[in-house]
Amino acid sequence: MIQSWGYAAPQAKQPLAPFSFERRDPGPNDIVIDIKYCGVCHSDIHQARDEWGGSIFPMVPGHEIVGIVIKVGSAVKNFKEGDRAGVGCMIDSCGHCSSCHSGEEQYCLNGATFTYNSRTNGEPNFGGYSNNIVVQESFAIRISPKLDLAASAPLLCAGVTTYSPLRHWKVGPGMKVGVVGLGGLGHMALKLAHSFGAHVVQFTTSLSKEADARQLGADEVVLSTDPAQMKKHAGSFDFILDTVSAKHDLGALLDQLKVNATMTIVGLPDQPTYLPGRGLIGRRRSLGGSLIGGIRETQEVLDYCADHGIVSDIELIPISKINEAYERVLKSDVKYRFVIDLATLPRP
Ligand code: NAP
Ligand code: ZN
Repeated sequence: MIQSWGYAAPQAKQPLAPFSFERRDPGPNDIVIDIKYCGVCHSDIHQARDEWGGSIFPMVPGHEIVGIVIKVGSAVKNFKEGDRAGVGCMIDSCGHCSSCHSGEEQYCLNGATFTYNSRTNGEPNFGGYSNNIVVQESFAIRISPKLDLAASAPLLCAGVTTYSPLRHWKVGPGMKVGVVGLGGLGHMALKLAHSFGAHVVQFTTSLSKEADARQLGADEVVLSTDPAQMKKHAGSFDFILDTVSAKHDLGALLDQLKVNATMTIVGLPDQPTYLPGRGLIGRRRSLGGSLIGGIRETQEVLDYCADHGIVSDIELIPISKINEAYERVLKSDVKYRFVIDLATLPRP
């Protein structure tokens, strides 16, 4: 076994604290990554606080993992020692269902294995708020040397989670696209939709983020709490991507769509959201959902971002600040993703 250490939530709603554990020895198809940086996703908070139910404790969160390969198994083809590598939200899937065959392991019909808050052979898996990870190479992502390593970590979740629906619903030039919520996912959606050539409108509840939104690529900004601003854009959007992490009014956002247009939600609040049928029926609108992206698409977004000079706007923190960072995310006080510098992780 490999000795590992990190930070874990011992129980729901308890602060994260130092934690030691073991990982499996690498098999022929595995690589070992020395973790350098890990992003802090709002999903880490939902799960560490058991807001979705069924959380497994102790929990080492973290699924925006980047680092350097320090060991490769005998059959590994695509990585060698010293390479950069990343791990996102998944570490395994059944490999033989129709979703896995089409490269959409996140929709594995037998259940994908997520990076943490999941089990392999009955044993809990631990995420990236830690010094190392062992992963099969087919679930590891190559990271271009053109990308800043720390700022590329959030691409592994926030990046692919917004890239995937923007591609699926074919966002591009000539389309008016709304992004709802300017947080970790929202700011990546804004950068990506802008780079795809769409006219992008940022919906926010935070007036203070307006200048940032424009600088990140928004053509227009709408304060979603102001009915007059909402009315001005009603019925005008080709597509809306909703990244909001808390319960909010979906009806007011659906009213922004054109006839036949779609709004897709990626935010997963702990509370169910009220959905008025009127907003859908009146203009034959659709409401969709989307979960991260497959491994192939995760590699695609990393490569796309390397080619287009896109990374996340990050605030680098020592691991000792993780509990404070969680509180700040809950207050929407982050520009726009916390990333943990694992060099600050204390050795037990
Ligand atoms: P985040 O950084 O906290 O951003 C969420 C944003 O939502 C906030 O910055 C805020 O933007 C807005 N917001 C918060 N509370 C609100 C409220 N009560 N009403 C309206 N707007 C509110 O979170 P994140 O890391 O981007 O994650 C967003 C959500 O996506 C989470 O629920 C997370 O679990 C989920 N997620 C889903 C997937 C997937 O595969 N589908 C993947 C990753 C994450 P403004 O200040 O601009 O209003
Ligand atoms: Zn995430």
